[in-house]
Amino acid sequence: MKLKGWKEVTPGAVILEAGNAIEFKTGSWRAFKPVWKKEHCIQCLLCWLYCPDMAIKVKDGRRAEFDYDFCKGCGICALECPGKKGIKAIIMVEEEK
Ligand code: SF4
Ligand code: SF4
Repeated sequence: MKLKGWKEVTPGAVILEAGNAIEFKTGSWRAFKPVWKKEHCIQCLLCWLYCPDMAIKVKDGRRAEFDYDFCKGCGICALECPGKKGIKAIIMVEEEK
């Protein structure tokens, strides 16, 4: 993607084109990465509901893998995950440099 020069950006950097967030792979900002432990997942979908970046995929009504292109590593999914018998199905690990 070609970056705009300062003469081309809108005043105040206001975004006028709807839906352009798809162009920005926000996962590149991440310092911590969520990891899904399927064996502890009860398919409650709370992680999908709480994720602010729609970075958790759902397929056929069931939770699927993370979309790491758009996961910022905020950790909300890991915080909210109830897991099975109190063992969380999402853990946060430090991103590899
Ligand atoms: S860490 Fe944050 S952005 Fe990434 S999947 Fe979890 S809730 Fe979504
Ligand atoms: S919140 Fe945890 S238990 Fe619920 S679907 Fe997501 S990973 Fe599975």
